[in-house]
Amino acid sequence: MNNIRLRFPPSPTGKIHIGNMRTALFNWLVARQKGGELVLRIEDTDQARSTKEFEDIIIKEMEWLGLDADEGVSIGGDYGPYRQTERIDIYEKFADKMLESGHAYKCYCSQEELEEMRKKAVANDKMPRYDGSCRNLSEEERNAYEAEGRKPVLRFKMPEEEKDIVVHDLIRGNVTFNSSVLDDFIIFKSDGMPTYNFAVVIDDALMKISHVIRGEDHLSNTPKQILIYKALGFELPKFAHLPLILDENKAKLKKRGKDSVYVGEFREQGYLPEALFNFMALLGWSTGSEEEILSREEIKERFAIEDVNKSGAVFDREKLNWMNGKYIRAAELDRIVELSIPFLIESNLIDEDYAEENREWLSRVVDEARTGVDYLAQIPSEAELFLTEIKFEDPEEAADEFAGEDVKIVFEALKEKLFACDELTPEAVGDIFSELKDELPVGARTIYHPTRLAITGRGSGPEMTGVISIFGAEEVASRLDNALAVAE
Ligand code: GLU
Repeated sequence: MNNIRLRFPPSPTGKIHIGNMRTALFNWLVARQKGGELVLRIEDTDQARSTKEFEDIIIKEMEWLGLDADEGVSIGGDYGPYRQTERIDIYEKFADKMLESGHAYKCYCSQEELEEMRKKAVANDKMPRYDGSCRNLSEEERNAYEAEGRKPVLRFKMPEEEKDIVVHDLIRGNVTFNSSVLDDFIIFKSDGMPTYNFAVVIDDALMKISHVIRGEDHLSNTPKQILIYKALGFELPKFAHLPLILDENKAKLKKRGKDSVYVGEFREQGYLPEALFNFMALLGWSTGSEEEILSREEIKERFAIEDVNKSGAVFDREKLNWMNGKYIRAAELDRIVELSIPFLIESNLIDEDYAEENREWLSRVVDEARTGVDYLAQIPSEAELFLTEIKFEDPEEAADEFAGEDVKIVFEALKEKLFACDELTPEAVGDIFSELKDELPVGARTIYHPTRLAITGRGSGPEMTGVISIFGAEEVASRLDNALAVAE
């Protein structure tokens, strides 16, 4: 063990989205690459919004992406419990310590009084901040408030003199905050729950976390946390704040709502975990070259937290689609078939029995269909052609198209050549069409268009060489014959 310990501490208040998972990934990468450990801690002190269901989703999606933790909820370890609501007694103990050492005090101000304070500050063009009313209460004053039934919060006592608090950030260098921008912030709420800033410090310190890597949105919390570390005499970890993820309009990526990007949605749409892994790794990091397709191993080897960018990373869905399509085409066919079957069943193109009995055929169909998709939910529309009875979009137009001696000549010649061919690869079919063009006394349109329509029922679609190769001579001949019958 080398004392490199990272943590991923999500709040289970919603389905996990790409932003949070990117944080998990970067922590995982540092842990794995340095032979350290990754701790999965659940920050569930917002009891109204935290659920076990969301916690389970986080665990499931991390597993799907192969981001395994070494310690934490559902795994265990020496520094548990790993759910904050199970650690309240620990936070209380440290809160008492803070009170005793004079680093914290009880504040009895009511919501209304605080609101009054805020309004006054705004009216005077001042930054709203707690004015310290309860900083120096006497014992009697405190007792009087208690007697009124007021429940206190605990506030951190900011040092009187102004001073700079410097965050040494592995990505941003030194970021300086002046204590004058901070007020006596709350560390324990009146409902008996610690605030995020308090609990996170205690946990990171007790869990011996060496590197705190999290989103830039937490950078402004870090000076407060540093003050708590110091007040409790804990050693500081190293900090790194990852750049925000922006949407295509360069606005902050939405966590919830219609344009949100939940990890589960990508899984459900048939994105491959290795593609999402690769894509997320490039949200803020690059190899320094143009390389985009990188394996898990390569990323693990080459990633360096110091190389992460400071500026926002744009979530480019088109790039993700391109990348995922590439991974789909490079993957083992069997795996892609397996993953595509539920989509085909869902679209009512096949049922489970069919999938079992026609595996070989289905493999050929999926292999063809995957050439044109970005994600597997698109497989059914590409495969439909092979899995449904032929249906002409416009039967009358089709009949017209198939009428006439020329079409008959083309179809008969094509059938003959298909049956004479040993192996109907797409290339062989291509050669057959070239021969037809050379040998028959008809124009190219009369060769291609009626053939496509007869075989697929549509005027346009995928490459005919691939389609014919998959259907085989028998099926193609039967479709051509059927077309001629339609014309009669
Ligand atoms: N629960 C916090 C969050 O999900 C953790 C932040 C941190 O990493 O310190 O935003």
